Amino acid sequence: MELLKQRIIKDGIIKKDNVLKVDSFLNHQMDIKLFAEIGKEFKRLFSDCQINKILTIEASGIGIACIVAQYFDVPVVFAKKTQTKNIDGDVFTAKVESFTHSKTYDIIVSKKFLCADDKVLIIDDFLANGCALLGLSKLVKDSSAELVGAGIVIEKGFQQGGELVRSSGVRVESLAIIDSMDENNGIVFRN
Ligand code: 5GP
Repeated sequence: MELLKQRIIKDGIIKKDNVLKVDSFLNHQMDIKLFAEIGKEFKRLFSDCQINKILTIEASGIGIACIVAQYFDVPVVFAKKTQTKNIDGDVFTAKVESFTHSKTYDIIVSKKFLCADDKVLIIDDFLANGCALLGLSKLVKDSSAELVGAGIVIEKGFQQGGELVRSSGVRVESLAIIDSMDENNGIVFRN
C-alpha cells in the first residue's frame, strides 16, 4: 500500500533492536484518515471472504481494528493481556511473548465472544516474530471458530513471524513488508 509506505518513510523512526517507531501516526497518535485507507485496503484484500468478527489484541491493535471493522460492518473483539494467575474457565487463553517489552503474558478472550460459527479476521499493527499472531490464532482454534486470515499493517519481513504463521496455514495479508531497515540504508520494502 503505497500511501502507507510513504508515511513509514516520512515518519517512521528506526530504533535499536529492530524496533520501528510509528507512534506519530499508527500506535500512539493515530491518523484516522490513513486508518480509513487501511480499512478499505483490507476490505479489498479479503473481499472474497465471509467475515463476521474481527479479533485483535490490546492495546495498539484496537484503534486500527475498529476503523477496519466499519468497512466489514462487524464487531471487534480484543484479546486482553493479563498477568492474572487464576484464569477461570470462561475464557480462551494463550501465552504471548512480547517483542517490544521482552516479557511473557497471557492473553484472554471471553468464551461469550468467540463461538464455533464465527468467521474471524485477525487485525494487528505489526508482525515481527509472530508470537502475538500465533497466540490469537490459538484462541480462534480453541473456540472452533474459522480463522479466515490475518491483516497486518506492517510486517517486518526480516523477522521470522511471517514465515512461521504462513507455514502454519494461516492466510496473512500485510500492507507493507519491510525487508531491511538500518540507519545507513533506511527502510527497504518488499515489492
Ligand atoms: P510479534 O509477536 O510478531 O513478535 O510482535 C508483534 C507485536 O509486537 C505487535 O502487536 C506490536 O505491538 C509489537 N511490535 C513488534 N515489532 C514492533 C516494532 O518494530 N515497532 C512497534 N511499534 N511495535 C512492534
